[in-house]
Amino acid sequence: MDQLAAKEANDATLAPADVLAPIQEMVRACIQCVTCTGSCPNEFAMDYTPRQLWRMVLMNQTKKIFQSKTFALCSACYYCTLRCPRGLPLTEAMEALKQIAARENLTQYKNSVQFYKKFIQSVRRHGRVNEMEFMTMYFAALKNPLTPLRFASLGLKLMSKGKVSMLPPIRQARPLESIFRKVEALEERL
Ligand code: SF4
Ligand code: SF4
Repeated sequence: MDQLAAKEANDATLAPADVLAPIQEMVRACIQCVTCTGSCPNEFAMDYTPRQLWRMVLMNQTKKIFQSKTFALCSACYYCTLRCPRGLPLTEAMEALKQIAARENLTQYKNSVQFYKKFIQSVRRHGRVNEMEFMTMYFAALKNPLTPLRFASLGLKLMSKGKVSMLPPIRQARPLESIFRKVEALEERL
């Protein structure tokens, strides 16, 4: 096992089993019907299907859960939540797993956490994501000069089709600021 893999394996033990308790309550009534898996548009890229993930949650398999990338790939589309015959809050459960991974600062989720943070920072500033600013902040946070090279050809393709602008974002009053502040105030009360 190389050093990074050893660190990741060790990280996965950082989240103690009892952190799963609230999530177990959310999915306790799961009947393993596979509807969530069949509904998930991102399932093809996940190492465990959503149905398997809920089983692992109920079995307290903390290490396996936090070594997997299943919940990190959830794009919160709410399909599974809408279609689950037991009416379980599956998207919230995925979100809760992401929050644990961020709180515990697990190595394999650091990039995902930075991705979310920089995305939200850009949305907060402009009311929508500014792709160029977002990717610049994201790459800077990763502190790896080689990472942007992996995305260079995709970036050029998007620019050539006019999907991404090189121009700096137009400065305007933060249109969503009051909503962000209200959410922060609500979160402080929780
Ligand atoms: S759709 Fe609901 S009941 Fe069916 S496997 Fe998924 S979580 Fe369980
Ligand atoms: S909310 Fe997440 S897990 Fe559920 S269907 Fe959408 S991407 Fe898949």
